[in-house]
Amino acid sequence: MNYRHAFHAGNIGDVLKHAVLARILTYLKAKPAAFRVIDTHAGIGRYDLLEGEARRTGEWQAGIARVLETPRPAAIAELLAPWLDVVAALNAEAGETAASDAPLRFYPGSPLLTRRLLRKQDRLTATELHPSDHATLATLFAGDRQVKAIALDGWLALGSFVPPKERRGLVLIDPPFEATDEFDTLAARLVKAWRRWPTGVYAVWYPIKDRKQVNRFYQRLREGGLAKVMAVEHFAGSAHPDRPMMGSGLVIVNPPYVLRDELQILLPWLTDTLAQGPGADWRLIDLAGE
Ligand code: SAM
Repeated sequence: MNYRHAFHAGNIGDVLKHAVLARILTYLKAKPAAFRVIDTHAGIGRYDLLEGEARRTGEWQAGIARVLETPRPAAIAELLAPWLDVVAALNAEAGETAASDAPLRFYPGSPLLTRRLLRKQDRLTATELHPSDHATLATLFAGDRQVKAIALDGWLALGSFVPPKERRGLVLIDPPFEATDEFDTLAARLVKAWRRWPTGVYAVWYPIKDRKQVNRFYQRLREGGLAKVMAVEHFAGSAHPDRPMMGSGLVIVNPPYVLRDELQILLPWLTDTLAQGPGADWRLIDLAGE
């Protein structure tokens, strides 16, 4: 387990993932019934962009920094508000106590973003296998009765916690893609989880470097019989297997009915904002149903 998300916090992949995550949670909050979020590969929850790994790579400068410094038309501002309000609040709070008052220093990973968007009745189960990352995550949520931060294999979590007792909610699957067969594992585990809980919303993030690999992943999901599935792909430039990641995707199972329209508004703006050259593009793909 060499992957540390701190190197990549706030990058173009996080922008796509967290913008969509916040839209799905906003949709779930439209009904009063409680929901649960299961975040299988949670990371540490809060990243300092001006220190350590994130400072060394500076990947966030081509991601969240660009989003914040680019003027946002009203429709975009409205769609991004749930996510960006959390980013702003985190930095405002930190500014009161930390030496730095930089407008962007701290970045919320998926479990912290989720936590900030929960209501009193909602719960988060976050699993992280790396011992020190889990310790950081557990400290972040110490004493929080709405969050369980568990040191557990995310694939086991999928087997153990799905379906949640609320029978309403989201499973976020965001593995590190260190193993060469990660896409195969992902497809197999997702299909298995969906069979046990076919009405849950699932969001699965993946890097797009090798088109063949991604198409094979889509094919395996189709063959798995999943009923309603869409994929959203975003590219800051041309993808290539041997170059740094320029694009990523999210497969969303049982997407909220409003999500397609929202993404059709959001993705052109995000693509322009994050473009790094030829190949900047986006796509929505119906993998099954609808
Ligand atoms: N979801 C996080 C976010 O958006 O802020 C980022 C997660 S990062 C891409 C993947 C995380 O999975 C890393 O923190 C890594 O330590 C952890 N990890 C790796 N293998 C795991 C496993 N089998 N089960 C749970 N976590 C794992």
